[in-house]
Amino acid sequence: MKVTVLVGGVGGARFLQGVLAALGDDDEVRAVVNVGDDIWLHGLRVCPDLDTCMYTLGGGIDAAKGWGRADETWSVKAELEAYGADPTWFGLGDRDVATHLVRTRMLRAGYPLSQVTEALCRRWQPGVALIPASDDRIETHVVIDDPVSGERRAVHFQEWWVRHRAVPRAHGFASVGRDQATACPAALAAIADADLVLIAPSNPVVSVGRIVDVPGLRAALAAAPAPVVGISPIIGGHAVRGMAEPCLDAIGVEVSAEGVGRHYGARATGGLLDGWLVHTDDTADVPGVAVRSVPLLMSDPATTAAMVREAVDLVGLRV
Ligand code: GDP
Ligand code: CA
Repeated sequence: MKVTVLVGGVGGARFLQGVLAALGDDDEVRAVVNVGDDIWLHGLRVCPDLDTCMYTLGGGIDAAKGWGRADETWSVKAELEAYGADPTWFGLGDRDVATHLVRTRMLRAGYPLSQVTEALCRRWQPGVALIPASDDRIETHVVIDDPVSGERRAVHFQEWWVRHRAVPRAHGFASVGRDQATACPAALAAIADADLVLIAPSNPVVSVGRIVDVPGLRAALAAAPAPVVGISPIIGGHAVRGMAEPCLDAIGVEVSAEGVGRHYGARATGGLLDGWLVHTDDTADVPGVAVRSVPLLMSDPATTAAMVREAVDLVGLRV
């Protein structure tokens, strides 16, 4: 079976571990990864969601933090700070910098991000094809009232999240560069020839929302012969971790499994879903979508695998 999964960073990576644990050796897993968080820092191209997936599945992740390299050191960051080199709010670890150096050099030599990612994955062997949603530069910006000047302005998503800890209220989100961008051909192909498409319990706004906003991607999902099943990142009216709540507030979507399910909507009516998994004790009425309540806490890959098998079963498939 060919399974294609739409993913962001930490939630997406954990979900992919469960997908791999649920499937057999003959099955093939492709992940279409959000690139909206990507950013240029100190001349380096940083791709947080791609790297979180790559390090998590490749065994290089800092498991306690959920992002960045294990056994990281921070000499480069300290030296940059000693120069007063902005931005100082983003922690680039020494080991992590090597990844960004290799990536940036290849991008500058003209390779598309998808090929660069493939090259990086030759080292990490994540067991999943990691495909950027787009090879083009599309960055999520957040409209906030600047905490210092009070002026309303758009800042890079990372500046809002990492520098300002998502404290200033988000008034909205924009995908900068989107109108000139196209979807990565491999992402479209992975959706077109899949037997099953899964939407990970990733942030519905800044992860999944940015992926399906890439020109061509929503249409590819609408046209996919395979069923599409989503997994709720909202449990009991709250995000399990991360910043989904202020993001959903900003776009006027109720923070609940039903709210997100309705926001995604049924494929039959122009939305994304055929099936929607919500957590035990949660309910959701999403017209046109098959809903099932099962345990959705990704405490370890085996538990997550059980959730993946429920998603497969919900649309009448078998693993
Ligand atoms: P990010 O890019 O690192 O922010 O990660 P993602 O967008 O992939 O995932 C963040 C989302 O994962 C958050 O909205 C969380 O609510 C959700 N999440 C994290 N852990 C769990 C879990 O154990 N179960 C479920 N259902 N959702 C989770
Ligand atoms: Ca992310």
